[in-house]
Amino acid sequence: MARRRLLILGGGFGGLDVARAVGGSREARGYWDTLLVDKENFFQFNPLLPAVAVGAVETRHIVYPLREMSRHRGIRFHKNKAIRIDLDRRVVELHNGLEESWDTLVIATGSVTNWFGVPGAEQHARPFKTLVDAMTLRARVVELFEMAEQARSDAQRRRLLAFVMVGGGVTGVEVAAELIEMTRETLLPRYPSLSPSHVSVTVVEGGDRLVPAARPEHSRYVHRFLTRRGVRVELGAAVREVEPHAVRLADGRRLEAFTIVWTAGVTPPALVRELPLQFHRDGRVVVDEYLRARRPDGTPVEHVHVIGDCAASPRPDGRMQPQLSQTAIAMGSHVGRTLVREARHQPAEKFAFKDAGYIISLGKHSSVLDLFGLPLSGKLAWLAWAGAYLIKMVGFRKQIEVGIDHVTHFFFEHDTSQIMNRRAVLSDDELNLALVDETRTLSPAASTESSQPLPPFRARSRCAPS
Ligand SMILES: Cc1cc2nc3c(=O)[nH]c(=O)nc-3n(C[C@H](O)[C@H](O)[C@H](O)COP(=O)(O)OP(=O)(O)OC[C@H]3O[C@@H](n4cnc5c(N)ncnc54)[C@H](O)[C@@H]3O)c2cc1C
Repeated sequence: MARRRLLILGGGFGGLDVARAVGGSREARGYWDTLLVDKENFFQFNPLLPAVAVGAVETRHIVYPLREMSRHRGIRFHKNKAIRIDLDRRVVELHNGLEESWDTLVIATGSVTNWFGVPGAEQHARPFKTLVDAMTLRARVVELFEMAEQARSDAQRRRLLAFVMVGGGVTGVEVAAELIEMTRETLLPRYPSLSPSHVSVTVVEGGDRLVPAARPEHSRYVHRFLTRRGVRVELGAAVREVEPHAVRLADGRRLEAFTIVWTAGVTPPALVRELPLQFHRDGRVVVDEYLRARRPDGTPVEHVHVIGDCAASPRPDGRMQPQLSQTAIAMGSHVGRTLVREARHQPAEKFAFKDAGYIISLGKHSSVLDLFGLPLSGKLAWLAWAGAYLIKMVGFRKQIEVGIDHVTHFFFEHDTSQIMNRRAVLSDDELNLALVDETRTLSPAASTESSQPLPPFRARSRCAPS
């Protein structure tokens, strides 16, 4: 009997676990002819991206080659980008004009940056989603320090070294924490012309607290942690427009920043959003209890599963499952098991999942977490963070590499080498701006407040949640 065609789109947290479950079962391998398609040929461990952005973890250590996994699991892999899914014809169009057909399709293409239609955001802010985004940010920070060191005025130094994160969720606060730590501990001591008064890191959050998904006491902890280190936090600050080097807020204020990082939210890619399916208000595809896509009338699409960041799976309390790696892993494993059960002619089981909580890393030696209802903060939480993500890393080699990175970073400072070319991290306009040494002052983000000396840096200070 010919094997049934299983097509998995996306080899991230969700897709990888489907592939591993199917490839790990002899019966399923005999039943399914599995093809995994991903636009990259590697899996990327997103939770460590902020650490990569400051060089605390090496770039290659958080990626895992999909071809390696495919070879071991007896499935096929194509590096290609899906550009259209035709549910009626059961084919996926790929970037180079090829088509792949399926009997069962798993959509696990993750999410893309959500610019929320804010004018100028996509043009002038930098996304923080991929390895390249993280590498570029790191190179840009070091490059701007190199330029600021040679600047002729304090105004120009402050201008180059003003950073704004738009979005005070987990990613925004993690990037801000890593950035301020790298700046204060590693960069400033190495650039004699620069002082803390030249650097400003601002987190802009539209809600009334940082990390709204966390416990209120953890939001307060993160807030205190960041402000003690010199990060400026703007709460209730909705971004109305992004200009080339400034963020305009709904209350009329204008925060200037040479680097604006957009960490405000995600949405499924256009490929998914344009399908004739039922969508949650945040753009995710609504799925049923078997993780099958629902049509607009609520009926399930047989043999089409949607998992991970693309899927809106209702929880018993009526809310949707969070867009987290643990959710994607649970969904991937579940669909994988469903496909193995199909190969064994067993009925599918319903998906049930309760997330374990959250971990927010705040740079070297500090985190806050809530795991299985247990809140923790400080160094112990950091150790739990490092240990948890080490266990979750895909492949023994990667676990060793990241483990060594953690130990190395514990004893040594960040590496300040800037390997990427200046032109790769600054546009021509930015390069001109950076080289023109204007004496105008920045306001209000960088001039009014950040021109004040930053508070003394207490790298080892601890603050327990209140
Ligand atoms: C910076 C950052 C930090 C994060 N930190 C945490 C954290 O600390 N804890 C946590 O639980 N979660 C965290 N997350 C969220 C977590 O990474 C996601 O929830 C998880 O990756 C979702 O898994 P997924 O399988 O749906 O998508 P992904 O893991 O993103 O995988 C999607 C895959 O699809 C591929 N793909 C996309 N489009 C196409 C296409 N058109 N054709 C072919 N392939 C395609 C991509 O290349 C990718 O490999 C973080 C995310 C980011 C960006």
